Amino acid sequence: MLKKNSAVPRQIMIIGGGIAGMEAARVAARRGHKVELYEQKDHLGGNLVAAGVPDFKRECHALIHWYGSELHELNVPIHLHSWIDEEAIRQSDADIVLIATGSTPVKQAISGFNKIFSAESVLTGAKNPGKSVIVAGGGLVGCETALWLRNQGKQVMLIEKENEILPVSHTLSYSSTETLKQLLPEKGITVKTNTVISHASAAGVVMQSAEQIIVQPADSVVTAIGYQSNNSLYENLKSERSDIYLLGDARQINNVIQAVRDAYDLASQI
Ligand SMILES: Cc1cc2nc3c(=O)[nH]c(=O)nc-3n(C[C@H](O)[C@H](O)[C@H](O)COP(=O)(O)OP(=O)(O)OC[C@H]3O[C@@H](n4cnc5c(N)ncnc54)[C@H](O)[C@@H]3O)c2cc1C
Repeated sequence: MLKKNSAVPRQIMIIGGGIAGMEAARVAARRGHKVELYEQKDHLGGNLVAAGVPDFKRECHALIHWYGSELHELNVPIHLHSWIDEEAIRQSDADIVLIATGSTPVKQAISGFNKIFSAESVLTGAKNPGKSVIVAGGGLVGCETALWLRNQGKQVMLIEKENEILPVSHTLSYSSTETLKQLLPEKGITVKTNTVISHASAAGVVMQSAEQIIVQPADSVVTAIGYQSNNSLYENLKSERSDIYLLGDARQINNVIQAVRDAYDLASQI
């Protein structure tokens, strides 16, 4: 149950229009605060945009749409195309600043190969992975991206450096994890665990496991090897002002439920 209206309405600047920023804006506005939301891109949703591209994940886009309608009804000003830096925060007259700037995919360099794309850039159509793809990273994002690429008729190999794909996660239930694990080989995706990319040669991308060296011709390598929190705004400003808070993946890489919980808890207290 939402806490009742705040005794003192405050001016709140929220940076990041992903799920954490949108939920914080919704709750804070409903509690009577004057909220403004800033997003660098031309749309709301953050990582949920890429997450909802596969047809089996379309509910992510429905969620973004729902938040858009809620914020519109609550008359929350949404500033798209608005990259916020430290100076913009210093110059704002906000009483409270919420940093919900999400995360950045961890990059991988492969000597001799430059067609390396993040899963997000491929899912959103910003990059074309070609017909023959190696997906690096057997977590949820890598597995779902591999499946989505395979469903388009591409030749897909999924590699994971640990000895299993989809290790225990708080995002997927046990049964969904097991179903996804079975589905990948059934759909014709080659799954290689205990395997890492070494470099590329004229013959293809060279990968190593304890037992063998694999050389796989590929149009691209699509990476899903983790995320780093975008927390520099908070880290650089927290000594200047006490009314600045970090939430969602910017605080700790997690999932949708945790981002919503973070935002709800925080916006209920201010
Ligand atoms: C492909 C993919 C699939 C996923 N699937 C699932 C799933 O099935 N279930 C699940 O629970 N989780 C899933 N996740 C994880 C989930 O999407 C994230 O945990 C969640 O969206 C994090 O929300 P957030 O608002 O904290 O960050 P983000 O979604 O990263 O949003 C941050 C926003 O801040 C903006 N921003 C950053 N810096 C600035 C700045 N300086 N100025 C203005 N704007 C800025 C960014 O443009 C972005 O829109 C998936 C993630 C990916 C990438």
